[in-house]
Amino acid sequence: MAMADPSRPLMTDGLGRRISYLRISVTDRCDLRCRYCMAEKMQFLPKNQVLTLEEIALLADLFIARGIRKIRLTGGEPLVRRDIGDLVRRIGRHIGAGLEELTLTTNGTRLADHAEMLADAGVRRINVSLDSRDPERFAHVTRGGKIEQVFAGLDTARAAGLAVKINMVALKGVNDDEILSMLRWCGEEGFDLTLIETMPLGDTGEDRTDHYLPLTHVADLIRADHALTPLSHRTGGPARYHAVEGMGIKLGLITPLTQNFCADCNRIRMTCEGKIFMCLGHEDHVDFKSALREGGLPAVEPLIDQALRLKPAAHDFRIGAGEGAATRRHMSVTGG
Ligand code: SAM
Ligand code: SF4
Repeated sequence: MAMADPSRPLMTDGLGRRISYLRISVTDRCDLRCRYCMAEKMQFLPKNQVLTLEEIALLADLFIARGIRKIRLTGGEPLVRRDIGDLVRRIGRHIGAGLEELTLTTNGTRLADHAEMLADAGVRRINVSLDSRDPERFAHVTRGGKIEQVFAGLDTARAAGLAVKINMVALKGVNDDEILSMLRWCGEEGFDLTLIETMPLGDTGEDRTDHYLPLTHVADLIRADHALTPLSHRTGGPARYHAVEGMGIKLGLITPLTQNFCADCNRIRMTCEGKIFMCLGHEDHVDFKSALREGGLPAVEPLIDQALRLKPAAHDFRIGAGEGAATRRHMSVTGG
């Protein structure tokens, strides 16, 4: 078992930021095609370019030995990866022995089948993406998703004892009229809610500028009805949290465009191809897959230090007419 290994240096980047949070995209595939995330016709990676579950587990072991304390599995949709339970159980064995937390971000469509497995493996909290509670609107945003699957997943997750946070991408003209009712519903259900600004990642065949909604405006709108008290609570991710008066839940705001959160960034990301990206908004990366396949773990370890030197001071997301995507990578490849 890979406890943090005192003989190995912890991961600190060139700016002194301690890296303790790893997001792993376990697949680029997904059963939905959310308009802000993917194009309708996506070209997915050939299987041999994607890390096997065993390779992901070995790399996770190494990262935990180098001081990663929190791992989030994401994608694509992590629960469409065959035998995902094997990986969750394998990484879950480190919880309390090096790893503090294993979490997952999911679209919820297959959660009903997997929630118990997640809880049994030591997962305590999950993020479920839900941009609308209206069945037709949900089907529109996801290009064909069936919302009843997500509601069934949420019920099973609650029964399994998993704490749920709802992720909602705030989209002007699509779901902005639903933000307050989503907040109140989350209050009734006991789910925290995180609102996310749409980020310019990958070509989706649609213009995200049309739907970009700055969350500073949304927060003002919410404040008109519910007092928001900023909290010092952090989960290791980019969200800034607020207590919502009278609701007993937290509201998180992820504002890559209106308020950059890079100064205290502790995160790195591993794509399903084994590329380590030090920042969601930059193309610089280090390829662990070739090193692992050619030289095994000893060949990978020096690359961690190379990757740390690549971490930039800040992302440079902008949204505006003609600016296109900040990176050609879709969020589903790098892992949201
Ligand atoms: N399929 C899972 C899901 O939807 O939760 C996990 C992967 S998804 C890429 C992770 C999160 O990224 C989701 O909450 C999704 O809404 C968000 N996301 C995807 N593309 C985005 C974009 N361009 N801007 C902002 N958030 C995005
Ligand atoms: Fe799939 Fe998640 Fe992207 Fe939607 S946001 S297309 S569910 S990966």
